[in-house]
Amino acid sequence: MSPRTLPDLIRQRIVQHGPMGLDEYMALCLGHPEFGYYMMRDPFGAAGDFTTAPEISQMFGEMVGAWLADVWIKMGSPSQFTLLEAGPGRGTLMADIMRSTKRVAGFHAAAHIHLMEMSPVLKAAQAQVLADYDVVWIDGLGQLDPTRPVLIVGNEFLDALPVAQLEHRDGRWWERMVGLGEGDSLCLGLGDVDPAKLALLPPEILNARRDGIFETSREVNQFLKSVNNILLKQGGVALFVDYGHVISDFGETLQAMKSHKYVDIFDTPGSADLTAHVDFGNVARIAREGGMTVHGPVTQGAFLKNLGIEYRAQKLIEGLSGAEQQNASSVCGVNEPQIEAIMSALNRLIDTKQMGSLFKIIALSHDPEIIPAGFHESL
Ligand code: SAH
Repeated sequence: MSPRTLPDLIRQRIVQHGPMGLDEYMALCLGHPEFGYYMMRDPFGAAGDFTTAPEISQMFGEMVGAWLADVWIKMGSPSQFTLLEAGPGRGTLMADIMRSTKRVAGFHAAAHIHLMEMSPVLKAAQAQVLADYDVVWIDGLGQLDPTRPVLIVGNEFLDALPVAQLEHRDGRWWERMVGLGEGDSLCLGLGDVDPAKLALLPPEILNARRDGIFETSREVNQFLKSVNNILLKQGGVALFVDYGHVISDFGETLQAMKSHKYVDIFDTPGSADLTAHVDFGNVARIAREGGMTVHGPVTQGAFLKNLGIEYRAQKLIEGLSGAEQQNASSVCGVNEPQIEAIMSALNRLIDTKQMGSLFKIIALSHDPEIIPAGFHESL
């Protein structure tokens, strides 16, 4: 009988094939065609499970749009290029990028918008938000036109790719596996490590001979290697924004979130978002080994401030009072809630106690001569 829920399906697989790696578990929870978390819902916003930078404020996408336009100009303003967003969510970031680059001469005419998205629900949301533009959806990087240069952005995309947890204990490496415990409940145990996953570990971790858990992701590594190959062959730059750490290290960061609260990763498989912090040390290492130039990582706060987000917030606020002057019926102070909303969104994005420090930004480029804006405070 085919299973009717994701927990049933996972149990059935474990009974048939034995315990599964956490990466397989995460891939099923997020992307199973029928039961996966992203496949059936729009998880964003106050009513959802979490909020992301583009959903907090239009200013985020405006800064990314300005950054992309600047890179495009530094590349010599190619007359055709692919503008790819990986994991575009509701399409808000791409909509803000397009709105903010409208007056950059030639940018819109040259850009071929591509979205890499697996969720049918989110694809529909993206189609609506981007109805004014020609958009192509792809399932993988292999579908991109091989002749055009490419600009890639991904906000909170890498953190959604499945991670495995390898554990060093008793003088050897193990893999943390999902198995069945009492009453067929899902539980974690240790199994033999898959040599292909062990091969992904950086030498300093392999040689550390220290006990601990190290997270690694075949999917992240494969995706980044494809990005490198495409950018080196066709020219281009990629920008990734995510929460994570700058130096590869031991630590367990896989987490589940539901209704803006942390829950156990086994509580409600398929109904909670699962993410892991991005190992930016690994992103940079893969890019450098592939012959790319790496900029950053820098903190999101430093990047956005360098690009002038505070100035933009000021302009938005001035725009409000301009509207007030034109509106005879407005009374003094009517815009205070809007001013507060702008300032509070700004703080959420750049404050070190909010997203400003935890979130990092890295750029990868095929051409060492191109110096993208915003990266001079590299960590
Ligand atoms: N960038 C958006 C959404 C982040 S959530 C924002 O900042 O608001 C992660 C996004 O990546 C979702 O759109 C999800 O459906 C998509 N996604 C996750 N894994 C994917 C995969 N393997 N292939 C394509 N899209 C994926």
